[in-house]
Formats: sequence, structure tokens, C-alpha cells
Amino acid sequence: MTQHTGIDDLLDELVSFRRDIHAHPELAYEEVKTAEKVAASLREIGLEVTTCVGKTGVVGTLKVGNSNRSLGLRADMDALPIVEETGLPYASCHHGVFHGCGHDGHTTMLLGAARQLARTRNFDGTVHFIFQPAEEGQAGAKAMIEDGLFDRFPCDRVYAFHNWPDLPAGTISTRPGPIMAAADKFSIKVKGKGGHAAVPHQTPDAILAASELVSQLNTIVSRRIAPTSTAVLSVTQISGGNSHNVLPGAVTLTGTVRTFDPAVQDQIEAAVRQVIDGVALASGTQISIDYHRYYPATINAGAAAEHALKVAATVGKAVQAPEPAFTSEDFAFMLQACEGAYVWLGQGRGGEHIPLHHPGYDFNDDIIATGVNLHVALVEDFLPSQMV
Ligand SMILES: [Zn+2]
Ligand SMILES: [Zn+2]
Repeated sequence: MTQHTGIDDLLDELVSFRRDIHAHPELAYEEVKTAEKVAASLREIGLEVTTCVGKTGVVGTLKVGNSNRSLGLRADMDALPIVEETGLPYASCHHGVFHGCGHDGHTTMLLGAARQLARTRNFDGTVHFIFQPAEEGQAGAKAMIEDGLFDRFPCDRVYAFHNWPDLPAGTISTRPGPIMAAADKFSIKVKGKGGHAAVPHQTPDAILAASELVSQLNTIVSRRIAPTSTAVLSVTQISGGNSHNVLPGAVTLTGTVRTFDPAVQDQIEAAVRQVIDGVALASGTQISIDYHRYYPATINAGAAAEHALKVAATVGKAVQAPEPAFTSEDFAFMLQACEGAYVWLGQGRGGEHIPLHHPGYDFNDDIIATGVNLHVALVEDFLPSQMV
């Protein structure tokens, strides 16, 4: 029987697969071709494959031995609505759709792990390879859970990786507790009456009230939240009026709130509502708000994060992250349903630093091996094979 210890012989094929996915990106819940390619690749190596989980999600299952223990590994498959500006030979064939967050790489690394584990089979238990849709703002993880993900494919633990341009390639980092922020968005409508700018006393001034709101909202984090807690509130959009001599009847504002602690999240939402009521009363306007919590904070279980760091040290340079990031991630929903951890894989290339979601970003193929090896090592360590 052939012994396969390394993954070197898989790498050329994985790089080609990644670049093919990169060239043919698909947006949230439209990952039909990507899901077909993933499913075909999993079937080719003999995995049990379930498609259409959470619309376009795919789960591949590999069972070895007799243990009832199981591990879930998750990759995201969706691209972003961005016009690619990399100039690469394998750049997007779909104008305005772009793998600007490296999910092409995540999908490839998880497939690589499936290929390696299917031939080495050096573990005892069940691995569920979870390929999810719609991570970018449309809660594909939640869609999979609502479609019975963890009932149909029970997992004792679940891990997900995200490439991380801020860390050098080969560095692997995570932390116990919060790692990514909860993301809320709000839209506020300030209604006055509107009228001639020369007679402002005849209408509540929606522009002035909106300006007051922007100032007041910006005091919430500094004045209402304990300095030991962390949070961000940003007003990101304001619109109203279209003439120099007309007071508009309405002004709209939009913004986002980022937190790590549900209690702080509650405090901020309550304070935003108080500010609105106060400004409405003082200005005579009517102010309504649509406040939407779209992703919760991503909170790693302590044991899972520590396990990931221990195993990571056997594969690359493991570093405990000193602080969480203020961006958000829908793997948070999976961590609410199942113990696990979210792990950053450094993908920095020396002096160059192109952030995620930038039109010039590209996943670094040099880290495919690190990602595959880490997936495999986590499986082998969490589901150790029976020693005879
Ligand atoms: Zn992203
Ligand atoms: Zn991403």
C-alpha cells in the first residue's frame, strides 16, 4: 500500500483548482457552479456528498473507524460584488464579481484536506467538510444551520479558517473568546415638513436634527460605554435636500455598530434609541429607525482555540492573537450552535500589503499547503486513530 505522508503531489492540482474558482466567481447564494465543482471533487475521492444545504451549501462526509466523535471543518465559497483590478492571467471572467476575500482559497484548502484525509485515513471518527454559501453579509452559515446542518451532520467541534493579510504567510493565529465583532446596521429617517429656506420657522429642520444626531451618536461609545469595553459606532451615509433654498422634508442616515459583548451591544442599541427620541423631541421632527443585528460576535471556545494553537505549532508559527478584529464573520452562527474556533492564516507576502475586499487583492497560493496541513493535523489530533 502506498504511504502518503506529505501533500506535495496535490499542490499543483490545488493551485489550478483555486485559480479556476477565482476566474469564475459567484455571489452569495449563486454559487451553483462552484458547488458543482466542489461536490464533483468530493465524490471523486469517495466521500458521501450532500448538496443544497442552505440553498447552495455542500457537505462532504468522511467516516473512518468506529468512533462516534466528529469534527466539522468549514470553508466559505462566495465572492464579492467588486470589479477586480489585479490584472492576473486568471482574473475574474464575471465583470463586477470578484474573489476579493480569498474564499476561493478557503474552498481549495478544505478540498485539499479532504483529498489528503481520504487517502491517509489516519484518524478515527467522522469529518464533515462544510462548504457554505453567502458569508459576505447574507448569513449563509445561518441558512445551513436552519436547514439542519448540525442535526443532519452532528459535530462535536467545528473549525473555520480565514486568510489574514495582516499576518505573514506561515503564521497561524487565534485566541480564546471574541475574535471577530458583532455587526449591526442602522438606518434612520428624520422627517420634518419641508419648505422655503427663507422661512425656517415654518418647518422642523430635518438637516439640523440629522446633524445633531450625527454628533450625539458619536458620543455614545465614549460617554455611555465603559472604557474597559470596546465598541465602534460609525455614521457612514447621510442624504437629504437637493437645492440651496429648500429645506428638505426628510433626511436619512445610515451607519454600523461593532461590539464583542452582547451586553454592550444592548446598551448601544438602547442609547441610539434614546438619542433619537431626544433629538426628535427637541427639534420637532419625527425620527424612525430600523436597527438590524446581522452578525453576532464570533466567540471562540477556550478549549477549541487552545487546541488549534497547539496543533498550529506543528504546522507553522502559532501566535495567540492579542486582540479581536472589528470586522465580522457569519461563522459566529456556527459557534453559537457548536463549540469551536475561528483561525487566521497569515497570507502576507513580504513588503506588499493588500487588504481583504480591495480590488487588487489575491489569495496567496503559497499558503494552501499550510491550510491543508492544519486541517489535516486538527482532524488527526481531535480524532486520534486507535493505536494497536
Ligand atoms: Zn469578506
Ligand atoms: Zn471572507
